[in-house]
Amino acid sequence: MAEENKGSVETTTAPKTEAAPTTETKQEAKPQTDAKPAQNRNNNNRRNNNNRKPNNNQNRNGNGNGDKPAGNKPNNNRNKNRNRHRRQPTPVDENLKKFVVHNQEAHKQRLNPHFKLDLNSKAKIRVTPLGGLGEIGGNIMIFETEKEAVLVDVGMSFPDETMHGVDILIPDFSYLREIKNKIVGIIITHAHEDHIGAMPYLFKEMQFPIYGTPLPLAMIGNKFDEHHIKEHRKYFNPIIKREVYKIGNDFEVEWMHMTHSILDSSSVAITTDAGTVIHTGDFKIDYTPVDGYTTDIHRLAHYGEKGVLCLLSDSTNSHNPIPTGSELSVAPAFDRIFSKAEGRILLSTFSSNIHRVQQAIQYGIKYGRKVCVIGRSMERNIEIALQYDYVRFPKNIFIDADEVARYNDKEVLIVTTGSQGEANSALFRMSIGEHRHIKIKPTDLIVLSSRAIPGNEGSISGMLNHLQRAGASIAMSKDIHVSGHASMEEQKLMLRLVNPKFFLPIHGEYNHVMKHRETGMMCGVPERNILLMTDGEQIEIAPKYMRKVKTVKTGKTYIDNQNNHQIDDDIVLDRQKLASDGVVMIVAEVSEQNSKMLSKPKVTTFGIVPDKQDKAFAKEMEDVLEIFLTNVKGGLIENSRALENDLRQVVRKHIFRKMKKYPLIVPHVLVH
Ligand SMILES: [Zn+2]
Repeated sequence: MAEENKGSVETTTAPKTEAAPTTETKQEAKPQTDAKPAQNRNNNNRRNNNNRKPNNNQNRNGNGNGDKPAGNKPNNNRNKNRNRHRRQPTPVDENLKKFVVHNQEAHKQRLNPHFKLDLNSKAKIRVTPLGGLGEIGGNIMIFETEKEAVLVDVGMSFPDETMHGVDILIPDFSYLREIKNKIVGIIITHAHEDHIGAMPYLFKEMQFPIYGTPLPLAMIGNKFDEHHIKEHRKYFNPIIKREVYKIGNDFEVEWMHMTHSILDSSSVAITTDAGTVIHTGDFKIDYTPVDGYTTDIHRLAHYGEKGVLCLLSDSTNSHNPIPTGSELSVAPAFDRIFSKAEGRILLSTFSSNIHRVQQAIQYGIKYGRKVCVIGRSMERNIEIALQYDYVRFPKNIFIDADEVARYNDKEVLIVTTGSQGEANSALFRMSIGEHRHIKIKPTDLIVLSSRAIPGNEGSISGMLNHLQRAGASIAMSKDIHVSGHASMEEQKLMLRLVNPKFFLPIHGEYNHVMKHRETGMMCGVPERNILLMTDGEQIEIAPKYMRKVKTVKTGKTYIDNQNNHQIDDDIVLDRQKLASDGVVMIVAEVSEQNSKMLSKPKVTTFGIVPDKQDKAFAKEMEDVLEIFLTNVKGGLIENSRALENDLRQVVRKHIFRKMKKYPLIVPHVLVH
C-alpha cells in the first residue's frame, strides 16, 4: 500500500493555494470536474475540431512540433463545417475564459480535501477495530494517539448455531488490557446491543469515563444494574449534541445527531493533532423522522468544509441501490392494517425501535384500542423512552396482560417481542400456547414489523407455522418495515458532505465494506486512500498517508446469558464434538501390585451407533482395549494419566477407521 501520495501536487502546493484562486492549474491532482469543461468549450468554439477527424491522431500529442501541417486538413474541415452550419464561429471573450479557469480552480479547492489538511503536521492517529469488521455486530473501535486512546462503542454479537449453549459473544479484550493505561474514555454512538452490549463485561474488569447522549447511557445504566455493578454509573458523562468535549489531552469530540432505527443516535467527530476523523456510527438519512430531529447534515458539511482526515462509515446496506425509506413510511401501511382488523392485533418489532412502537401505538389509539406491552426488553425500552420524555402517551391507554381478557378483541393492541422467532420471546410462547395470559385466537392478526436477521429465518418460519396452526392471520408485507441503515445513495451523501481524504468503510462483512469502497471511489476518494480493515488490524493515519501497521489479538468470548458468565472455549469445543460426533466412555480397572488389568474394560457410547447396535459396538471396542491392556508395558499401568491417554488413542483410531468420526472420548482408569 502506497505510503503517501507521492507525486500528487497537493502535498507541496496546498499551503500556498489556500487563499485565492490562481490561474496556475495543477492538473495531476484532478478532482473529477477538472479538465472537462475546457475541452467542451474548445469543441463548441470549433477551434480544435481537427481532433475530430478520425485518422488525425498524431495531432493530439504532436500539437507543438511544427512539421505537421496544422493548416491543410483542418481548413478543409472548417470549410465543411461552415457549409453545414452556415454560421461564423462566435468570438471568444478572453475575460470569460479566464473566469472559467477561476471556477475550475474554485471547484478544485472545494472538492479536493488535501488543500484543507495540514500536510506539514507530523501528528498521526491509529485506528484498530476489535469487532464489527468481517462480521455484523460486536462493534468496538479504538482511536490512539501517542499517549492516549479512546474507544468508540463496546458492543456484543450473536453466536452461530455451532456455539451450543452460548447466548452472546463479546469481543476479546486482550488488546484493551495491553493499552489500559492509555484509555481516557469511551464514546458511545447509540444504544443498540451491538454497540453497548459488552459494556458490563468490560466494566467488571476495567473502568473508564463513558461519554454519550442520555438514551444510550440510560440503557447502559440498566445493564449495570442487572449485572450488580450499579456503582459504575458514576462513570457517566452525558453530553449535548453539537458541543465539543475535550477527552484526555489529545481528543476533542463532537456528537452529531443521526437518524437510525433507535432514538438518540449520533455520529462523532474526533479531532486530534492529526486532523478530524468522523465515525458515522449506524445511520440512515431520514428527512422526515418521527420526532422531527433530522440527521445533522449541517454539522457533517461543516466538518467537510473545514477538512476531514478520514471517514469511517456504516456499510451495512452498501449493496442496496434503493434509498432507505423514512421511518415515517410505515405509517400508511399501519393505518391500512389497523383500520381493517376485526380482532386483536399483536404487533411485534425490534424492541429498541421506539419510533416504530410509537407509531403502532398511535394507530392503536386512533382505532380505539388499548395497548398491552409484553416482553421484558419491550417493556423496559418503552419505560425508558417514557421516563426520559423521548415519547409521550396518555397513561390510561396501557393495560396489563392479565387485563386483556376483559376487553373486546377489537379494543386490544398487543405490542410484543419475538419478531425473530426467539424461543424465549413472548410471541413465540404465545404461538405454542405457553403464555400465561395470551392464547392465540383465530381472529387474531399478527403484524411482524421487522425483517429476518440473517440466520433467524428458520426460527421465524417455525413460529409462523405455530401461529397459523392456531388460526391467526399474519401481516408481514414489505411496507410495514423499513431499514435503519444507509443505502448507497445515502452513503454517497455522507461521503460528499464529509469529503474525507481517507476512507475506511466499517460495520459489515467483507462483501459489504468492499461494495462501500466502490461507492467511495465513485464519490471522488482515490482507491489508494481507501483501506478495507478486518478485526485486529491497526491502521495509522497522518495527513500525508494511511497504512496498516500491525495486527493485534482479537476474538470472541462466549457468554451464558442465564448467569452472565463466560463460557470457556474448550467447553464450547466439547459441546461441538458431542453434538456432531457423540461420546465414548471407557472404564478400566488395573492392579497396582502386578500391573495387570483386574477386569475387562467397559465401554459405553452415546450418539455414535443406533441403540440396537450399541452392545455389539461396545464389545468390539472392549476387545480392542483388552488386547491393548494385556500387551501394555509395565511402567505405564502405574501412571493412570498416561494410560488414559493411550486408551483414548486406541479408541479414537478404531472409531475413525470404522466410522470416520471423532467423538469425545472419556477414559477413566481405576488403580487398585
Ligand atoms: Zn445500530
